Amino acid sequence: MLQISFEEFEKIVDEIVEKARKEIPEELLCMLGNLSILVQDKSLFKEDKNPDLSPLGIYYGISINDLFVGYSGTDNVIVIYRIPHLNKCKNMDDLRVEIYDTLLHEIGHHFGLKDDKVHELVP
Ligand SMILES: [Zn+2]
Repeated sequence: MLQISFEEFEKIVDEIVEKARKEIPEELLCMLGNLSILVQDKSLFKEDKNPDLSPLGIYYGISINDLFVGYSGTDNVIVIYRIPHLNKCKNMDDLRVEIYDTLLHEIGHHFGLKDDKVHELVP
């Protein structure tokens, strides 16, 4: 397991978000809208307590497929979980790849993809 402080992990996530913003095509990027990306230590849901099953990230929001007229738009949020990433990764390179994959996976949910479809794109 990697040992990386919360602050350090957040900094790495920021870098990866920056990198993703450069790589994601412009027309998708503008559809990301008011999407914020946050870091937490781990999921707080009881059912996610099993470390083998604890998710790497989560998407909260209304995916663009489900937007409806009159929706006043609370923020859409992606949370990246620190501890499951550290458990899973052996080194910093691993970690960066894993965070990037989680980010793309959750962005896939923002675009309305279900888990099975997202896993085809980002295994
Ligand atoms: Zn998912």
